[in-house]
This record gives sequence, C-alpha cells and structure tokens, in this order.
Amino acid sequence: MDTTDLAQGVAAGDRRALARAITLVESGRPDHRQAARALLEQLAGLGRQSLRIGLSGTPGVGKSTFIETFGQMLTGQGLRVAVLAVDPSSTRSGGSILGDKTRMERLSRDPRAFIRPSPSQTELGGVARRTREAVALCEAAGFDIVLIETVGVGQSETLVAEMCDLFVLLLAPAGGDELQGVKRGIMEIADIILVNKADGELKAAAQRTCADYAGALRLLRKRPQDPEGYPLAMTVSALDALGLQEAWRRMQALADWRRDHGFWAARRSEQARHWFEEEVRQGLLQRLTADPVQRARMARIGASVAEGRTTPGAAAARVLALLDNPGDESLDA
Ligand code: GDP
Repeated sequence: MDTTDLAQGVAAGDRRALARAITLVESGRPDHRQAARALLEQLAGLGRQSLRIGLSGTPGVGKSTFIETFGQMLTGQGLRVAVLAVDPSSTRSGGSILGDKTRMERLSRDPRAFIRPSPSQTELGGVARRTREAVALCEAAGFDIVLIETVGVGQSETLVAEMCDLFVLLLAPAGGDELQGVKRGIMEIADIILVNKADGELKAAAQRTCADYAGALRLLRKRPQDPEGYPLAMTVSALDALGLQEAWRRMQALADWRRDHGFWAARRSEQARHWFEEEVRQGLLQRLTADPVQRARMARIGASVAEGRTTPGAAAARVLALLDNPGDESLDA
C-alpha cells in the first residue's frame, strides 16, 4: 500500500485524510501496520509539534461540556484543535463512556476542530499505541492543540500522561468539605486542577473544593518541572464559559516555562524512549503468542506457574528461550 498521497493529505491538514490515516493506525492487520509505520515515518520528518493536553475526569464532571466551550474558545482565537479520546470502558465491553457522537456537537462542526472518538474493542495496549500514533498524526496535520481526553478510571490517566505535555484534571464541587476520593497518583501527575461547575448554586461549593485541593497540592513535593505556583487549582464553569481564558493562560504559561527550561524537550524524549521500549515489549509478546502452538505452550507454562510447579522467573526464561528455538519441544517438559 502506497501511503504517499495519504501523507500529503495529512500534511496539508486535510481532515478527511487525517481520519483515514487514524483508521489505518487503528487497524491490527499486518499489512496495515506496515503501511501505518511507513506513513508515520514519512510524516515525522515534518517535525511539527502541537501542545498536547491530557484531560481527565470521572463521568459527569463536565468533560464534554468543557471541551465544547474551551475548544470553541481556542478555535475562536484562530487555533486548530484536535480531540482524541482514550476510553478504557470500550476495551472490554465495546460500550463507551466517551466518544458518543452527540457530544461536542458544535465543536465537531467547527472547521478548525477535529474530533475522534475512542475506537472500540481493543486492549489497553492497543489503545495506547493507537492514541499515541493518532496524536502524532494530528501533530503532522498541523493542529496547534491536541486534547487527549480520558475517564478517571483504571490506568488510563497514566497512559495519557505518558503522551501529553500538560495534564489537566477536571473535578466537580464536593458536597462536604472533604477531598473527593481522588487517588494520590493522579494528584501527582496533574499540572492544573480545574474545579468545574463554579456557577449558580454550586459556586460556593466549587470554591471550597478548590481551596481544599490547592491546600493538598501545596503539600506535594515540589517538582523540578514546575515553576513557582504550580501545580495549581482553580475554578471554572464550562457551561457559562467562566475562567476558561484564565485556565488557558495558565496552561500556556506552564508550557512556555517548561519549553524555556528544557523540561518540555526532556519529557518528550523520555516519552519517546518509553514508547520504543513498549513497542519492543508488545512485539515480543506478539511473537510469542502469534502462533497457536506457541500460545498453547504459553498457557501450559502459565498454568504450571499458577500451580506452583515452576517459579515465575524460571518459566519466563523458558518462554523467552522459545524465541531462539521455536521448535524445541524439550521446552514443554
Ligand atoms: P462528562 O461525562 O464528563 O463528559 O460530563 P458532561 O459534559 O456530559 O456533563 C455532565 C453534566 O454536567 C451535564 O448535565 C452538564 O450540563 C453538566 N455540566 C457540565 N459543565 C457544567 C458547568 O460548568 N456547570 C454546571 N452547572 N453544570 C455543568
């Protein structure tokens, strides 16, 4: 498959070409994988970089509403915005919390925006690669901002944090004055916490929640990649478009500071190295399980580990030896 035309379409910022290219990187077919790799290599030469913003929050917190208003604010300033979703719920059930077509209706019709829902029925490993490659395609297509949205469950935030430049956590006003059950891990990867729904009757609760989180953030260890005052918490109303300019100003200030101090480039190279290692890991696993005979062997060795007849280390060494001697039946013993 020749990907030259597709590469040209993507590089020219054509949204239909971009959609087709993402479909290509989502495919698991070996010939498609090969074409996808060729395409990504062709486009890497452009060296374009977007600001990649990870956005996480539990269902109902207002992510779609936020992206709709925030996205339109950005496109209104002449910026081009791509939105990608990482939805762990779609990996198991095929159902999806994100990526519903009725979400972000106005933004999806905006010529400066591109919205792509999460693909269904892939494993988390597959979602990770697909999203990372989709991000690369959006960058090549010249988008200024790539928003990578995820639901605050499972490991999806860590995954998104590994492909973004800034991580934004969206929270809802809490009823009481206690912190919501936000895992410590996510507090540590958040650069900016936005307490949403700071409007009408919820305004006071939002302000209290924001103060609580600001306090909690001050207790965290100071990170070298942050200027004074970050990570920070602030209130917004996605519905009434309140505080969004300020939130954007804070995101830009953080991004600029990191760029000026070398942390941006360092993070990007660290991420690239991580993804390289991840690809190798996935590739090895795939080679070990591609063939039904190998798969059956893996299952048998796994069962023997589960029953305590083999230690995990010895079993893994045997499985890795299969890579050198796929026909060696003594390994089954
Ligand atoms: P998501 O599941 O995180 O994508 O959340 P949605 O964007 O679908 O919002 C869930 C509900 O919260 C909807 O009824 C929204 O209208 C409401 N909502 C979202 N943002 C705001 C806000 O800023 N203020 C208020 N009062 N309601 C909001």
